[in-house]
Amino acid sequence: MRKPKIVILGAGYGGLMTAVRLQKKMKVNEAEIILVNKDSYHYEATWLHEVAAGTIGEERACFEIRHLLDSSKIHFIEDKVIDIKKEEKKVVLEKEAELEYDYLVVALGFEAETFGIKGLREHAFSISNVHSARLIRNHVKYMFSKYSSEQKEELITIVVGGAGFTGIEYLGELVNSISQLCREYNIERKKVRIICVEAAPVVLPGFDTELVSYAVKCLEKQGVEFRLGTVIKEGTEKGIIVVKDDKEEEINAATVVWAAGVRGSSIMEKAGFEAVRGRVIVNKDLRLPNYDDIFVVGDCAAVMNPENNRPYPPTAQISMQEAITCSKNLISLIRKEEKLEEFIFDNKGTVCSLGDRDAMGIVYGRNIYGWKASVMKKVIDNRSLYLIGGPKLLLKKGKFNIM
Ligand code: FAD
Ligand code: NAD
Repeated sequence: MRKPKIVILGAGYGGLMTAVRLQKKMKVNEAEIILVNKDSYHYEATWLHEVAAGTIGEERACFEIRHLLDSSKIHFIEDKVIDIKKEEKKVVLEKEAELEYDYLVVALGFEAETFGIKGLREHAFSISNVHSARLIRNHVKYMFSKYSSEQKEELITIVVGGAGFTGIEYLGELVNSISQLCREYNIERKKVRIICVEAAPVVLPGFDTELVSYAVKCLEKQGVEFRLGTVIKEGTEKGIIVVKDDKEEEINAATVVWAAGVRGSSIMEKAGFEAVRGRVIVNKDLRLPNYDDIFVVGDCAAVMNPENNRPYPPTAQISMQEAITCSKNLISLIRKEEKLEEFIFDNKGTVCSLGDRDAMGIVYGRNIYGWKASVMKKVIDNRSLYLIGGPKLLLKKGKFNIM
């Protein structure tokens, strides 16, 4: 008898976690499982700000996907998804022929969202995957090296657009790495400008005010200038144009990092899903409305928070929890069990790093700061590695520099 075919698209937190869970719980003869990812490796997207600042190398944040898979249970395809033909139950890949499926899991993750702001795609960088993060690090380094001979202020001016969690975590790493770069290129630290532009009147809008003020003080002490209530209007060859109180200003900066928004994969719209910025509202069992054979997890899925009737923010935490429910539901479908599980998000909190030795956040409803929070952040990172790859992956890639 032909085995049902499960195809998983994307090996980020959502896709890889679904795959390893199915591998653990299913017998070889129960299903044919295929995992597709555009690279041979998984990258820890939650560490990308560290790669972008150069405080860790990209190899530290990546690991080979095949090393986690039992090839008798999961076939891995390194290829790029180009389209999904949901009526024909087929996935179109760049290199390989079309892939048919009985059940599909879409976990293609996030991309930068520039909201159509002029010039940003051409002139700004974004922290959206391991390649774009590495590019930022190399670019900043090159600009510092150029400054040594040209002495132009804008070469050592860095603008970070957005003071959300990505912007703040990147700033925290940046202030750590800049001191090292200054030593390397013999540049006075006080000559380097790091400017964070945020449209809202506060940093981390909506987050606990005490924690926000801790983060701002910590970053300002290390030379970050915050421009709040200031909107990025345009990216230019020289830097950016911002607007505050109807007044326009051009900030000259050789490096502009856009950290002011993410969206789900653009494949979602291309494939005709009813997506808003690449995110589709899924049913309680994480399937697509009207498509009982398609699950969507991670940043491409919008799961509604019943408390405010708005989608939960896209995070690795929710992606991994969705993957667990998704894998259980796939097994139920294949074993022809009646009931599928409803996804219920168990929010354990949020911890925001401020460089390697400092952090702040809320864990199980309690505010934490400083060294304690920084250790907690590493525990969270390590837990995620453990859940995906067990003790072997944790020992290989874990963050144990807690003292
Ligand atoms: P992703 O992790 O984006 O993985 C998608 C995978 O699909 C990737 O492997 C990608 O290569 C692959 N892919 C994409 N397109 C294609 C294609 N066309 N064909 C084939 N493969 C494809 N969340 C937290 O909970 N805690 C944090 O501390 C945290 N820190 C963050 C720090 C930074 C700097 C950033 C940018 C985000 C952070 N997040 C954090 C958010 C978190 O990273 C995302 O919510 C999470 O990565 C989403 O997981 P995912 O599986 O949906 O997608
Ligand atoms: P975000 O959407 O959460 O924040 C973007 C920020 O940019 C907002 O403060 C917004 O006001 C600002 N902004 C938007 N347009 C602007 C403009 N034109 N000019 C100036 N400012 C502008 O995006 P993010 O920080 O990339 O986070 C994306 C997701 O990843 C979120 O769900 C977040 O919770 C998650 N994340 C979590 C962590 C963590 O848990 N430590 C770290 C990073 C990201």
